[in-house]
Amino acid sequence: MSGFTRREFISASAAAAAGAAGSSPAALGVVLPRQEPAAAAGASGAAANLPVVIASSNGLGGPPARKSCVELAMELMLAGKDPLTAVVEGVALVEADPNDQSVGYGGLPNEDGVVELDASVMYGPSHRSGAVAGLQRIMHPSRVAKLVLERTDHCLLVGEGALRFARAHGFEEMNLLTEASRKAWLKWKENHSDDDDWLPEGSNEISPQAAADRAWRHTFGTINCCAVSAAGDLAGVTTTSGLSWKIPGRVGDSPIIGAGLYVDNEVGAAGSTGRGEAVIQTCGAHTIVEAMRRDPGLSPADACKEACQRIVDKTKLSRLRTKEGRPDFGVIFYAVRKDGTFGAASIQEGPEFAVFAGGKARREKCAFLYPKGS
Ligand code: ASP
Repeated sequence: MSGFTRREFISASAAAAAGAAGSSPAALGVVLPRQEPAAAAGASGAAANLPVVIASSNGLGGPPARKSCVELAMELMLAGKDPLTAVVEGVALVEADPNDQSVGYGGLPNEDGVVELDASVMYGPSHRSGAVAGLQRIMHPSRVAKLVLERTDHCLLVGEGALRFARAHGFEEMNLLTEASRKAWLKWKENHSDDDDWLPEGSNEISPQAAADRAWRHTFGTINCCAVSAAGDLAGVTTTSGLSWKIPGRVGDSPIIGAGLYVDNEVGAAGSTGRGEAVIQTCGAHTIVEAMRRDPGLSPADACKEACQRIVDKTKLSRLRTKEGRPDFGVIFYAVRKDGTFGAASIQEGPEFAVFAGGKARREKCAFLYPKGS
């Protein structure tokens, strides 16, 4: 056994899983020099000083009373925590936030009105991953995913098995459906339940009007957060309630290693938000890490753009394309390289991402393939 070798570092179990504790870098075999962050370069420029945290835009902000995801993750790394603990505890703030209807508590439910959560984590030094999919009644799927990594010999637990595993580790069960999310679901159910994700036989194509009608009804949203420590070690997490009104049991890209998240400690880390089906079918995050690995490797922003282009090239069905022939859905990729260079890209111009680098948490604009209005 190497990397995470001794499982002793996880004396954590239930208490740590439910709390903010984490494994120390020393216990992970990582020497993490204390380092104050210094000036960092721009999104697609030269290497930033380490540590660096990057996330989807909901990694910054939230209610004024709480820290943001990227701030907490950075604070934990500067306090000596390993990057995996840092990102998982960072996204836990968003999982607990009822106002973010795309993640954790208060997430929009499936077509039966049941919240089903997906999450994955990956830790560079050990190259191990853990994930859960279709998990009900547990607020923090990313902490359960971390325990799948630490306390099982598996990569992915789903549905009832994932819930039983969470229960065994002392996670509290709760109703994840807030009033706001229940009302949003009811509105969909009352008004639009004829138009769901079930497609009639032989019709992978539907009319352009029907396609347009569908578009607004399905909302996406997720948080991806990746970090590189002062020692150059990488970790990442992606956690979501997935596509709203999905067919029960639908699993998106977030818990799929290589799609919604991928980490290679020699190269970098990448993750995604947006239409999971498109990311799974193009192995999005893996594609980005491999593009950064090439010699010469692409910058994180250019690697993210390349993965966006792959989606454009592989979106063949007209029901998923605009009249200009482009994808009618959004996908955003986020990436950070081992040297701290970071970037993000989306298919269409507009989205931002969150980053904490050079001592400053901020939002930056994503690179893109198609300018607004083009
Ligand atoms: N990627 C997520 C999924 O497809 C949703 C999102 O990020 O918007 O489940």
